Amino acid sequence: MQTLVADHPLVAHKLTALRDVRTETPTFRRLTDELVTLLAYEATRDIRVEPISVQTPIGTAEGVRLARPAPLMVPVLRAGIGMLDGMARLLPRADVGFVGLARDEETLIASTYAARLPADLTGREAFVLDPMLATGGTLEAVIRMLVSRGAAAVTAICLLAAPEGLARLAEAFPDDPEVPVRVVTAALDEALNDRGYIVPGLGDAGDRLFGKI
Ligand code: URA
Repeated sequence: MQTLVADHPLVAHKLTALRDVRTETPTFRRLTDELVTLLAYEATRDIRVEPISVQTPIGTAEGVRLARPAPLMVPVLRAGIGMLDGMARLLPRADVGFVGLARDEETLIASTYAARLPADLTGREAFVLDPMLATGGTLEAVIRMLVSRGAAAVTAICLLAAPEGLARLAEAFPDDPEVPVRVVTAALDEALNDRGYIVPGLGDAGDRLFGKI
């Protein structure tokens, strides 16, 4: 598994504001949206393209277009929904699947309560949107669903990652040239606390995006 920690001053600036406990929901949503677009730029670096030529007003230009089949974006409910628009801005033709996992607050084990994914993902690149890579249980489960359906590559986009979660994914998905698995994140934090929160993190991403319900 490859990990990319985005090293860019704009990413660091927006992430710092996002972490700030004084940042309220409307600003938190906007910053998430902007950050995801910046991370999506990195996450799509290896996206498959095919050559085409176009007629300009002056002549013929050789270029590329995104290859078919279209990529799939998979926001993980609920917090991943806050990342969808930022990603769709760069990949407006991508299809969207959904997966919902709830984690037991005691055991921290995630179980699936909703999944709407194509049965066959052969040849398709998938982008999973989940703001917090904490224990890695949720992302491991979602990536397994996508790989088992035949995805050609899976890239998880996270705002923050904990070392524990990255280690779990690296063990679950050892380097496989057939199905590359990657994580793109804005920062790698210190550790998880005893309640499974990322430290220093930004708190509960779902609550900060959508309120405590
Ligand atoms: N989920 C969150 O929303 N925040 C964390 O710190 C960990 C998991």
